[in-house]
Amino acid sequence: MSEGRIKKVPMRTCVGCGANKPKKDLVRVIRTSEGAITLDLTGRANGRGAYLCRNVECLKRALKTKSIARSLKEPIPEEVADKLLEELSHE
Ligand SMILES: [Zn+2]
Repeated sequence: MSEGRIKKVPMRTCVGCGANKPKKDLVRVIRTSEGAITLDLTGRANGRGAYLCRNVECLKRALKTKSIARSLKEPIPEEVADKLLEELSHE
């Protein structure tokens, strides 16, 4: 009955479906200081990021609604979108 032991889990919102999930259950898409847009699979890369569920559907949705582009303040070129979809489908 001790609630003091429950760890507070950092929550983030998926830019695809809008679900609020524990940060560790999401992947981050980041824009690096070099301007490259990539999946941050380590969770440690620096840069502006957008969180997504680990599934291709959420990424597709976020690309379609341009919510990733809004979060990153950068349009996502089609070849980068394809690369992200490819990488996420192997996750
Ligand atoms: Zn989602």
